[in-house]
Amino acid sequence: MAFPVASINLTALRHNLARVREFAPHSAVMSVIKADAYGHGVMAVAEALVDSDAFAVARLSEGIHLRQQGIEKPIVLLEGVNSEADFIQAADYQLSPVIHLHSQIQLLQSIKLPQPLQFNWLMIDSGMHRLGITPEQAPAALEILKSCANLTDEIGLMSHFANSDLVGDKRNQLQLSPMQALHNDTGLAVCLANSAAVISYPASHLDWVRPGLMLYGISPFDDKSGPELGLKPVMQLKTQLIAVYNIDAGEEVGYGGDWTAELPTRIGVASIGYGDGYSRHLSNKSEVWLRGQKAPLVGRVSMDTICLNLNDVEHAEVGDEVILWGSPELPVEQLAQLAETIPYELVTVITRRVQRELSDG
Ligand SMILES: *Cc1c(COP(=O)(O)O)cnc(C)c1O
Repeated sequence: MAFPVASINLTALRHNLARVREFAPHSAVMSVIKADAYGHGVMAVAEALVDSDAFAVARLSEGIHLRQQGIEKPIVLLEGVNSEADFIQAADYQLSPVIHLHSQIQLLQSIKLPQPLQFNWLMIDSGMHRLGITPEQAPAALEILKSCANLTDEIGLMSHFANSDLVGDKRNQLQLSPMQALHNDTGLAVCLANSAAVISYPASHLDWVRPGLMLYGISPFDDKSGPELGLKPVMQLKTQLIAVYNIDAGEEVGYGGDWTAELPTRIGVASIGYGDGYSRHLSNKSEVWLRGQKAPLVGRVSMDTICLNLNDVEHAEVGDEVILWGSPELPVEQLAQLAETIPYELVTVITRRVQRELSDG
């Protein structure tokens, strides 16, 4: 068997999409599958989430890939495109680049696309100051876009929260207000809520919700796990023990000798490292799940391997399965805190060397 493996639970994916619809029963769902579906493998995820109303990715290349692989749902390009050639490609592949710059609007007025863009979204900067035009500029922009021959008249308003993971933070209301006002003034569909807002801010759901992380069974909140929110973790990352041996008290383990055995210690070596995307920031910090026990990682994470203290794990032997995250005892949210990052990053950076294996458990 090949290892390491990221086992992707398709049943959990479908469950999590159903959970989105429970949270936001009156909204259409645009499932965010950018960055290879947050590292989970975009084709398997897109097929499992076929009940989504639309998909969103970041870039043109991601959208083209999905079309070439036969995905037919509307596909939004969250970063938009900036050249005539890229607009033409988007039109050819029936992709929907978000419009977030005045220069994009000008370009659309001056070129002739092979067919009009459909399922269009104008990005409004409601306060995050990343992408979008201001709410005040929206009416004039809409006027132009509505009469532009390169777009069908299907156009909605999009925005993005900067702080929706902070439940009750007043900045969320400050971002929602202008979107509600535009919604009331124009009657156009609004798409605003990411995962945290889907779960914690029903007033923001409006016409379309746009979740990513929660589809993968991961919590966007620091103080709650996916399962506590009724989500099922989709990825289980696992590998094998490739060596087991004993060292004496006082001996050091790994590069730099960053860990010293205080007692005689049974060391296990598992085949995974930062070359697989297992964060080096977990050096000396994380634990793994092995034979129904937790075993601490000792020393630095290497490119291909990690070392484990097996003193509390009986009978461990070469070939044993080692779970890095995605078991109930080792949620990826917990490891992200240890690595001082967010679970988004841990799952997204898993490299191609890790085989994706589909399961229906
Ligand atoms: C990534 C992204 C999302 C999804 O956010 P989650 O927190 O993963 O739910 C939604 N909208 C935009 C614009 C994004 O970039």
